[in-house]
Amino acid sequence: MHPVSHRGSLFIVSAPSGAGKTSLVAALVAQMPNVCISVSHTTRAMRPGEEEGVNYHFTDRESFLRLVADGRFLEHAEVFGNLYGTSADWVEQKLAEGLDVILEIDWQGAVQVRHLVPAATSIFILPPSLPELEKRLRGRGQDDDAVIAHRLSGAQEEMAHYAEFDYLVVNDTFDHALGDLKAILHASRLSQARQQETLAEAIGELLSSPPANG
Ligand code: 5GP
Repeated sequence: MHPVSHRGSLFIVSAPSGAGKTSLVAALVAQMPNVCISVSHTTRAMRPGEEEGVNYHFTDRESFLRLVADGRFLEHAEVFGNLYGTSADWVEQKLAEGLDVILEIDWQGAVQVRHLVPAATSIFILPPSLPELEKRLRGRGQDDDAVIAHRLSGAQEEMAHYAEFDYLVVNDTFDHALGDLKAILHASRLSQARQQETLAEAIGELLSSPPANG
Protein backbone atom coordinates (compact mmCIF):
# COMPACT_ATOMS: atom_id res chain seq x y z
CA MET A 1 0.00 0.00 0.00
CA HIS A 2 1.28 3.47 -0.82
CA PRO A 3 1.97 5.49 2.35
CA VAL A 4 0.42 8.71 1.02
CA SER A 5 -2.70 7.46 -0.72
CA HIS A 6 -4.83 9.55 1.65
CA ARG A 7 -5.05 13.08 3.00
CA GLY A 8 -3.08 13.79 6.14
CA SER A 9 -4.76 14.43 9.48
CA LEU A 10 -4.62 17.55 11.59
CA PHE A 11 -3.38 17.46 15.21
CA ILE A 12 -3.59 20.30 17.71
CA VAL A 13 -1.12 20.29 20.60
CA SER A 14 -1.59 22.83 23.39
CA ALA A 15 0.06 23.21 26.78
CA PRO A 16 0.91 25.85 29.34
CA SER A 17 4.40 27.26 28.90
CA GLY A 18 6.83 25.15 30.91
CA ALA A 19 5.10 21.85 30.11
CA GLY A 20 7.73 20.89 27.54
CA LYS A 21 5.46 20.93 24.50
CA THR A 22 7.98 22.19 21.93
CA SER A 23 10.70 19.60 22.77
CA LEU A 24 8.15 16.78 22.86
CA VAL A 25 6.65 17.69 19.48
CA ALA A 26 10.12 18.09 17.94
CA ALA A 27 11.08 14.59 19.15
CA LEU A 28 7.78 13.16 17.91
CA VAL A 29 8.33 14.54 14.40
CA ALA A 30 11.94 13.31 14.38
CA GLN A 31 10.84 9.79 15.28
CA MET A 32 7.65 9.30 13.26
CA PRO A 33 7.39 9.32 9.46
CA ASN A 34 4.96 11.48 7.46
CA VAL A 35 4.29 14.13 10.08
CA CYS A 36 5.33 17.78 10.14
CA ILE A 37 4.96 20.84 12.38
CA SER A 38 3.33 24.02 11.15
CA VAL A 39 5.61 27.07 11.51
CA SER A 40 3.42 29.91 12.79
CA HIS A 41 3.60 33.62 12.05
CA THR A 42 4.16 35.83 15.08
CA THR A 43 4.67 39.47 15.96
CA ARG A 44 6.75 38.63 19.03
CA ALA A 45 10.47 39.42 19.06
CA MET A 46 12.89 36.67 18.11
CA ARG A 47 14.52 35.02 21.13
CA PRO A 48 18.21 34.14 21.22
CA GLY A 49 18.75 30.90 19.34
CA GLU A 50 15.56 31.19 17.28
CA GLU A 51 15.65 31.29 13.48
CA GLU A 52 13.37 32.93 10.95
CA GLY A 53 11.28 30.28 9.17
CA VAL A 54 12.34 27.55 11.60
CA ASN A 55 10.75 28.48 14.92
CA TYR A 56 8.41 31.12 13.52
CA HIS A 57 7.89 33.46 10.60
CA PHE A 58 8.63 36.71 12.44
CA THR A 59 6.59 39.63 11.20
CA ASP A 60 5.39 43.08 12.24
CA ARG A 61 1.89 43.83 13.45
CA GLU A 62 0.86 45.65 10.27
CA SER A 63 1.88 42.79 7.96
CA PHE A 64 0.23 40.29 10.30
CA LEU A 65 -3.07 42.21 10.26
CA ARG A 66 -2.92 42.38 6.45
CA LEU A 67 -2.63 38.57 6.34
CA VAL A 68 -5.63 38.35 8.69
CA ALA A 69 -7.64 40.69 6.42
CA ASP A 70 -6.68 38.60 3.37
CA GLY A 71 -7.98 35.46 5.08
CA ARG A 72 -4.58 33.78 5.01
CA PHE A 73 -4.78 32.26 8.50
CA LEU A 74 -6.53 29.06 9.49
CA GLU A 75 -6.60 30.52 13.00
CA HIS A 76 -4.98 33.40 14.81
CA ALA A 77 -4.93 34.71 18.36
CA GLU A 78 -3.29 37.17 20.71
CA VAL A 79 -1.21 35.48 23.41
CA PHE A 80 0.63 37.50 26.09
CA GLY A 81 0.31 40.66 23.95
CA ASN A 82 1.70 39.14 20.74
CA LEU A 83 -0.17 37.93 17.66
CA TYR A 84 0.20 34.35 16.42
CA GLY A 85 -1.33 32.70 13.37
CA THR A 86 -1.27 29.48 11.31
CA SER A 87 -0.96 29.69 7.52
CA ALA A 88 -4.06 28.11 5.93
CA ASP A 89 -2.33 27.50 2.55
CA TRP A 90 0.69 25.76 4.06
CA VAL A 91 -1.42 23.44 6.20
CA GLU A 92 -3.71 22.58 3.28
CA GLN A 93 -0.75 21.81 1.02
CA LYS A 94 0.83 19.43 3.55
CA LEU A 95 -2.47 17.65 4.24
CA ALA A 96 -3.02 17.28 0.48
CA GLU A 97 0.46 15.72 0.20
CA GLY A 98 -0.68 13.10 2.73
CA LEU A 99 1.36 14.43 5.65
CA ASP A 100 -0.07 14.71 9.14
CA VAL A 101 0.27 18.26 10.42
CA ILE A 102 0.79 19.30 14.05
CA LEU A 103 -0.31 22.75 15.14
CA GLU A 104 1.40 23.96 18.32
CA ILE A 105 -1.13 26.59 19.28
CA ASP A 106 -2.88 28.01 22.34
CA TRP A 107 -6.41 27.13 23.50
CA GLN A 108 -7.98 30.07 21.59
CA GLY A 109 -6.51 28.81 18.31
CA ALA A 110 -7.64 25.28 19.20
CA VAL A 111 -11.25 26.51 19.50
CA GLN A 112 -11.09 28.01 15.98
CA VAL A 113 -9.48 24.94 14.38
CA ARG A 114 -11.97 22.54 16.00
CA HIS A 115 -14.77 24.65 14.55
CA LEU A 116 -13.27 24.60 11.02
CA VAL A 117 -11.93 21.04 11.10
CA PRO A 118 -14.08 18.95 13.46
CA ALA A 119 -12.06 15.82 12.60
CA ALA A 120 -8.86 17.37 14.03
CA THR A 121 -7.42 15.48 17.02
CA SER A 122 -6.51 17.68 19.95
CA ILE A 123 -3.99 16.91 22.66
CA PHE A 124 -3.29 18.85 25.84
CA ILE A 125 0.03 18.41 27.64
CA LEU A 126 0.02 18.89 31.41
CA PRO A 127 2.97 19.25 33.77
CA PRO A 128 2.99 16.62 36.57
CA SER A 129 2.40 19.14 39.38
CA LEU A 130 2.31 22.85 40.18
CA PRO A 131 5.66 22.83 42.08
CA GLU A 132 7.28 21.04 39.11
CA LEU A 133 5.80 23.57 36.67
CA GLU A 134 7.11 26.42 38.82
CA LYS A 135 10.54 24.78 38.90
CA ARG A 136 10.53 24.50 35.09
CA LEU A 137 9.32 28.09 34.66
CA ARG A 138 12.12 29.32 36.90
CA GLY A 139 14.51 27.70 34.45
CA ARG A 140 17.98 29.01 35.11
CA GLY A 141 16.78 31.30 37.88
CA GLN A 142 17.16 34.54 35.96
CA ASP A 143 13.65 35.85 36.54
CA ASP A 144 12.31 37.50 39.66
CA ASP A 145 9.31 36.23 41.66
CA ALA A 146 6.85 38.67 40.04
CA VAL A 147 7.71 37.40 36.56
CA ILE A 148 7.40 33.78 37.70
CA ALA A 149 4.04 34.47 39.39
CA HIS A 150 2.78 36.08 36.16
CA ARG A 151 3.90 33.07 34.08
CA LEU A 152 2.30 30.66 36.55
CA SER A 153 -1.05 32.41 36.41
CA GLY A 154 -0.86 32.46 32.58
CA ALA A 155 -0.12 28.73 32.68
CA GLN A 156 -3.12 28.13 34.94
CA GLU A 157 -5.38 30.09 32.57
CA GLU A 158 -4.23 27.85 29.70
CA MET A 159 -4.64 24.66 31.79
CA ALA A 160 -8.20 25.66 32.70
CA HIS A 161 -9.12 24.65 29.11
CA TYR A 162 -7.84 21.05 29.39
CA ALA A 163 -11.35 19.57 29.15
CA GLU A 164 -11.84 20.89 25.59
CA PHE A 165 -9.17 18.47 24.30
CA ASP A 166 -9.52 14.87 23.09
CA TYR A 167 -6.38 13.60 24.87
CA LEU A 168 -4.43 14.57 27.98
CA VAL A 169 -0.76 13.72 28.25
CA VAL A 170 1.20 14.31 31.46
CA ASN A 171 4.83 15.22 30.87
CA ASP A 172 6.26 13.57 33.99
CA THR A 173 9.19 12.00 32.23
CA PHE A 174 10.03 13.02 28.68
CA ASP A 175 10.18 9.48 27.27
CA HIS A 176 6.88 8.49 28.84
CA ALA A 177 5.10 11.57 27.44
CA LEU A 178 6.73 11.05 24.03
CA GLY A 179 5.49 7.45 24.03
CA ASP A 180 1.97 8.69 24.77
CA LEU A 181 2.09 11.19 21.88
CA LYS A 182 3.31 8.50 19.49
CA ALA A 183 0.50 6.20 20.63
CA ILE A 184 -2.10 8.89 19.96
CA LEU A 185 -0.80 9.53 16.43
CA HIS A 186 -0.54 5.83 15.75
CA ALA A 187 -4.08 5.13 16.97
CA SER A 188 -5.45 8.03 14.94
CA ARG A 189 -3.82 6.58 11.82
CA LEU A 190 -5.63 3.29 12.52
CA SER A 191 -9.04 4.95 12.91
CA GLN A 192 -11.77 3.69 10.65
CA ALA A 193 -12.18 7.05 8.88
CA ARG A 194 -8.50 7.18 8.01
CA GLN A 195 -8.09 3.47 7.21
CA GLN A 196 -11.11 3.59 4.92
CA GLU A 197 -9.13 5.87 2.61
CA THR A 198 -5.81 4.04 2.97
CA LEU A 199 -7.36 0.60 2.59
CA ALA A 200 -10.02 1.50 -0.01
CA GLU A 201 -8.68 -0.88 -2.61
CA ALA A 202 -8.04 -3.78 -0.24
CA ILE A 203 -11.46 -3.41 1.41
CA GLY A 204 -13.15 -3.28 -2.01
CA GLU A 205 -11.45 -6.53 -2.89
CA LEU A 206 -12.29 -8.15 0.45
CA LEU A 207 -15.96 -7.33 -0.01
CA SER A 208 -16.22 -8.27 -3.68
CA SER A 209 -17.71 -11.55 -4.84
CA PRO A 210 -15.32 -14.39 -4.11
CA PRO A 211 -13.61 -15.97 -7.08
CA ALA A 212 -15.48 -19.02 -8.41
CA ASN A 213 -14.14 -22.23 -6.90
CA GLY A 214 -12.13 -24.66 -8.95
P1 5GP B 1 5.97 31.36 22.47
O1 5GP B 1 5.97 32.81 22.14
O2 5GP B 1 6.44 31.09 23.87
O3 5GP B 1 6.69 30.54 21.43
O4 5GP B 1 4.44 30.87 22.42
C1 5GP B 1 3.49 31.46 23.26
C2 5GP B 1 2.16 30.76 23.07
O5 5GP B 1 1.66 31.01 21.74
C3 5GP B 1 2.19 29.24 23.22
O6 5GP B 1 1.07 28.84 23.99
C4 5GP B 1 2.04 28.75 21.80
O7 5GP B 1 1.40 27.49 21.74
C5 5GP B 1 1.15 29.82 21.21
N1 5GP B 1 1.23 29.83 19.75
C6 5GP B 1 2.32 29.67 18.95
N2 5GP B 1 2.00 29.72 17.66
C7 5GP B 1 0.65 29.91 17.61
C8 5GP B 1 -0.30 30.05 16.55
O8 5GP B 1 0.01 30.00 15.36
N3 5GP B 1 -1.58 30.24 16.91
C9 5GP B 1 -1.98 30.31 18.21
N4 5GP B 1 -3.29 30.49 18.46
N5 5GP B 1 -1.13 30.19 19.24
C10 5GP B 1 0.17 30.00 18.94
